[in-house]
Amino acid sequence: MKQSQLFTKTRKEAPKDETSKNAELLIRGGFIFKEMAGVYSYLPLGLRVLNNIENIIRNEMNQVGGMEMKTTILQNKEIWQKTDRWNDEVVDNWFKTELKNGGEIGLSFTNEEAYSNILKQYVSSHKDLPVYLYDFKNIFRNETRSKSGIMRGREFYWKALYSFSRDNAEHDAFYEKMKTIYQNIFKKVGIGHLTYLTFASGGSFSKYSHEFQTLTPVGEDTIYLDENSGIAINKEVYNDEVIAELKLNKDDLIEKRAVEVGNIFSLGTKFSEPFDLKYRDEKEEERLVIMGSYGIGLGRLMGTIVEVLSDEKGIVWPEEVAPFRVHLLSLGEDAEAEKIYKNLSEKGVEVLFDDREVSAGEKFADSDLIGIPYRVVVSKKSLAAGGVEVKKRSEEKSEVVSIEKFLKQF
Ligand code: ATP
Ligand code: MG
Repeated sequence: MKQSQLFTKTRKEAPKDETSKNAELLIRGGFIFKEMAGVYSYLPLGLRVLNNIENIIRNEMNQVGGMEMKTTILQNKEIWQKTDRWNDEVVDNWFKTELKNGGEIGLSFTNEEAYSNILKQYVSSHKDLPVYLYDFKNIFRNETRSKSGIMRGREFYWKALYSFSRDNAEHDAFYEKMKTIYQNIFKKVGIGHLTYLTFASGGSFSKYSHEFQTLTPVGEDTIYLDENSGIAINKEVYNDEVIAELKLNKDDLIEKRAVEVGNIFSLGTKFSEPFDLKYRDEKEEERLVIMGSYGIGLGRLMGTIVEVLSDEKGIVWPEEVAPFRVHLLSLGEDAEAEKIYKNLSEKGVEVLFDDREVSAGEKFADSDLIGIPYRVVVSKKSLAAGGVEVKKRSEEKSEVVSIEKFLKQF
């Protein structure tokens, strides 16, 4: 894409109403647009990042047999009454609205009810199970806190998978698989080295749930981390009994701030019971389906990447999620740059070509702010030195390589 055609423009000043680094850098870089507190639109650059994250997650979900679908945002009051979660005293962060011809509906704040209700129509025999279903969806929560930019939104984008298993053993095996899959995802998006499996309270059906917590001083959670085993405990469940049960040593645990980028939960029969979600086993006996839920906040993940990987000049995107792979800067050498742009584009390499008529300083500053992994400069100087100047966003040093050699890499 030619940068001259990108309608968004970078800005030098930080937005006055943002305190978080992720929102500040993403707004300045033209990735997101703030509609109101806790509500952000994704602009072309931001959507490219979000789509990359989405595809990484989708591939991993499909690997474990997940099937993608799309549940609705408008939710039927009656299905939520089955679990008593329509009740404002049980769930206090609903966005609800009224229909013109009478009756109330809600904007989905989670998906268990919707999935259980759908599955009820299709599951009757042990042959129908297990099933693993997921969707990517906008979720609505009337959050009181909204100072963390896209890490905590009132409207946010997530992936939620639900597992429907025949018994606890089948559930447990899948749950363990998902722990590994989740670690793979966080590695692929570039924050694996900072993300830890964290034990948290489990609700009524299992002692623990598991969170994936990424270390950052701006995280809202406090965890106790054992760096040797890579296991952490959320402060909410942290006590001597838990430490002993996990065979950890209290002296090894370090208190850290972290953000929950994902979580996995054993739900047991909490939802299958109210929805009467049952199947007949081989002996024709009726049994309740065992469920699990597996969530990741994509916006929160994107915000976390910005928080932990940026520097004083701007964002440093990992290659797998970057909006483009190469940022090509022409400093008065448009004809030469255009040839490189064409060549790379024909090979399917995603290039942002800065063809604007602005100063070199402005191009460099914007390139650092936007954070594309490879910066390639074509200038009189670089051509005289034998080619183009290539620099990784994550490194200080640059080198001049011949155009031929540079193009051969792709
Ligand atoms: P938190 O404890 O941070 O409020 P949660 O436990 O309510 O999150 P879930 O309902 O389990 O979160 O949602 C699954 C995932 O969705 C979380 O792990 C997180 O990554 C993301 N998420 C939750 N709330 C928000 C939000 N308000 N904005 C952005 N992402 C969110
Ligand atoms: Mg939580």
